[in-house]
Order: sequence, then C-alpha cells, then structure tokens
Amino acid sequence: MERELREIVGDEGIAAEPGWYLSDITGLPGKADAVVLPATAAEVAAVVAWCYEHDVPITPRGGGTGVAGGAVPVEGGIVLALDRLARVRQFDPLLWRLHVEAGVKTGAVHSLARENGLMFAPDPGAAEQSQIGGNIATNAAGPHAYKYGPTGTWVTGLEAVVAPGEVVTVGGPIRKDVAGYDLKSLLIGCEGTLGIVTAAWLRLLPAPELTLPVAAFHPDVDSGCAAILRVVGSGIGSTAIEFLDGETLACAGQSFDGPLPDGSGFLVIAEADGSAAEALRVQTELIEALGEGAVAVAAPAERGGIETLWRWRGGLAFAVLARRGLAISEDIAVPLDRLQEAIEETAAIGRRNEVIGLSFGHAGDGNLHSTFLFSPDSEDERTRAWAACDELVEMAVRLDGTISGEHGTGWLKRGQLEKQWPARAVELHEAVKQVFDPKGLLNPGKKVARLPDEV
Ligand SMILES: Cc1cc2nc3c(=O)[nH]c(=O)nc-3n(C[C@H](O)[C@H](O)[C@H](O)COP(=O)(O)OP(=O)(O)OC[C@H]3O[C@@H](n4cnc5c(N)ncnc54)[C@H](O)[C@@H]3O)c2cc1C
Repeated sequence: MERELREIVGDEGIAAEPGWYLSDITGLPGKADAVVLPATAAEVAAVVAWCYEHDVPITPRGGGTGVAGGAVPVEGGIVLALDRLARVRQFDPLLWRLHVEAGVKTGAVHSLARENGLMFAPDPGAAEQSQIGGNIATNAAGPHAYKYGPTGTWVTGLEAVVAPGEVVTVGGPIRKDVAGYDLKSLLIGCEGTLGIVTAAWLRLLPAPELTLPVAAFHPDVDSGCAAILRVVGSGIGSTAIEFLDGETLACAGQSFDGPLPDGSGFLVIAEADGSAAEALRVQTELIEALGEGAVAVAAPAERGGIETLWRWRGGLAFAVLARRGLAISEDIAVPLDRLQEAIEETAAIGRRNEVIGLSFGHAGDGNLHSTFLFSPDSEDERTRAWAACDELVEMAVRLDGTISGEHGTGWLKRGQLEKQWPARAVELHEAVKQVFDPKGLLNPGKKVARLPDEV
C-alpha cells in the first residue's frame, strides 16, 4: 500500500514518524497502515481515488485538537493529513476576503487578518494548532460565536475532494448563493465523513477599534443566570457571554489575576467591541446589567488586563483537568431559558454518580462544557464519570437541547444522535452519508447517528 501511495504523493508525502497522527488530544488510540500528507488538492483526489478503488478507510486529519476523537483512525486504513496544503491562495483585504488551503493554521488566519486591519471572527480555543480545514469540518465556534456565529458563517466557498476521488467547488468569493441545495453547509461540520476540505473562501470583517470585557462575580447560579438573561433581554450588543459555575471557579480561581472577590460563586464574562465610543457605551450597559446582584464587577480597560482575563478563560479546561487528573468534558447546548436548569442538573448528576460535576462555557449560546472529573488511578471513578455523561445526554434531550453544540459527534458520541432526532431524520442523515460515500470509507465509524447493530 505505502509504495503505491508514495508514487502519488512522493517521499515527502508519507510521514516517516506516523505516531503523532495516530491519536488526538483525547488520547483515543488509533492505528493506520500509512499516514499520507498530500501537497495539493489533486494529490488528495488521487489518494482518495486509490483508497476508493482498494476499499481502504480514510481518516482526514487537521491539527488533531478535536475533542470527539474524530481524527483518530479507529478502523485502520490511512490517515490523510492536510498539513502540507498550507498556502494562502489569494488575499483581497479591500474586499474583506481570503482564499486559504485547509492546512493553514487558524492562528495564522487570525494574524494575517489582524495585520491588515481585519478580523476573522471565529475563535475556537486551540487556534495555534488547529487548522482551518478542521475548523470547517467541525464548524468550530468559541466565545465570540455569540455575536459572530460559528466558522461556517464565514465560509463563502469550499473546495473539497469527494468520493470516488474528485475535486469539487461549491460557492466561491461570493456573498450570496442559493442556486442549489446547500452542499457547502453539508460539508461544513461533516467531520470528514462526507468529503475532505482542501480549500475555503473566508469572509473577513474590519477589526473593531476597541474590545472591552466585563467580569461580574455573582454569589450563585440563580443570580448569575438572571444577569445573563438581563443582558440578552435588553438587547445589549455583547460579543460574548461566558460563564463559570462555582466548582469551576474553585478549580481555576488560583490562576486568576488576583484573589477572587469574597462570596463569588458564579462568574459571567461579557465583552463589548466596536469603535471606541461604541465599545465604551456597550461596556457601560454591560456593567449595569451584569452588576445587579453581583458581589463585584471588574472591567479591565488596559490591553494587558484584557489579555490576561481571556488567557485565563482559555486555560480553564486545563485548570479543571488538573483537579483530579482526567475529565470528560461535554458540549451540550440548551435553549437559553433552560441554561440555569442545565447548570444545576450537571452538578446534581455529578453528585448522583459520586464524581465532581461542573460546567462552564458559552452562556449566550446556551452551550455548556459540562465536565465530570476522575482520577487516572480509579477505574471505578472513570466508569461513574461515563455514567454521568449518559445522564447528561438524556438531560440535554429532555431540555429540548442538543448533545453537541460545538465539538461534533466524532467517535466518542457515536450512536447518540438517535436519542435526539426523530427516526425519519435519522434515516435522512444516513441517506446523505450513503450518497456522498457509498462505500463508507470516509472517516468510518464517526458521526454515526445509531450504532450498526441498531440499524
Ligand atoms: C484547548 C482547546 C480549546 C478548544 N476550544 C474550542 C472552542 O472554543 N470551540 C470549538 O468549537 N472547539 C474547540 N476545541 C476543539 C477543536 O479545537 C476544534 O474542534 C477544531 O476545529 C479542530 O480542528 P483541528 O484542525 O485540530 O481538527 P482535527 O482534530 O484534526 O479533526 C477534527 C475533525 O475534523 C476532520 N477534519 C479535519 N480536517 C479536515 C479536512 N480538511 N477535511 C475534512 N475533515 C477534516 C477530522 O477527521 C475530525 O473528524 C478546543 C480544543 C482544545 C484542545
């Protein structure tokens, strides 16, 4: 196999040390017969064509930061890594648009935009390592998705390789397109199960002149959630509304810039942006709306203080992990009026299963990173943490929410969608996969709505 693939991609296109590509940030173990790194979309197409002819599974791979195990080759075959498709094909700053290949790092897109007075709005947390192709394949979001939407909002065109090995383009450097069924949106968020993204046209925005966060420390969930609903209900143009529950504050408080105010049991972080005058106006409104019932409100105005606050927010997952050594962090989303219930129920599920259950996340989007902690030394605690996750999924469905608001289904949440969707919708989901990938070779086992023995 490797010899024939080498003929397509050359020596540089076969990873000499495949180890890094066989797992991802989840640590899920994988195995592959080869790790292939094509350098062009035509090479990707040729590799897919070869695999399709020889019935070889293909696991597409971006930066490996996905948290659902989607990039792990659980069924063998090849890993198709996009690292070498890393060119900027075209950049038109005055038209606010950028054409990049899939392997360009998210952070590099942010930098290029920023250096030209522009902004690429999506801000998923692992930007230095994740790739634009991976962001598109997971429709990644982040704190600022509250105002700006997830990655897909900013993709106007896609180039992708689809089975049995052809390059197709849908959309382009255009701002409107309703000509056909929305194939672009099917590929966005497909987690590599319908096609392999090789390049994308991205829409940029002029960068805001100023961004000003507000951090409001509340005594409890009740008071914090009331403040969140006040911001939403009064139409204040916040870019982000984040929350941390009391248990999360207990894990991350030590790394906060200074002591936490006495009586803090719930934190809301919001942000204003725009021209200097606009940002200051919105910040004042946020202070007023979030301040009611709070024990303290911080509104850093210096760049250093602002960056410190967001860096601390960005490191939460690691602070939480440190508490017991390991954790399962989910990403359910619920209607905004059920947020408080979901936060309280996450803690209660933890208590019922005798593990620490906490949540933090993107409050404005009703998106919770409900997390259950366990020690690597306790198999029993691990089992109870997974049992807690099962209860969490049931809770998300009961609250009319979704089992995944951000991370996708990947391998870890395979088979769960049928709990959320009606039977006919599940059938359509499977029919779409069948049309795009009749041999089932594109990222097999991932994003499946129900498990094979239930089909
Ligand atoms: C510290 C940290 C913070 C995070 N914060 C956020 C956050 O705020 N918001 C959020 O949404 N996510 C977040 N994530 C999750 C992760 O960063 C995103 O899912 C990201 O989009 C994955 O990109 P990647 O390039 O690493 O993809 P990978 O992990 O390599 O792959 C993810 C999935 O996409 C598929 N894939 C990858 N590239 C392609 C391609 N070119 N074509 C087709 N399929 C492809 C893979 O097969 C896999 O199924 C975070 C992760 C970490 C570790």
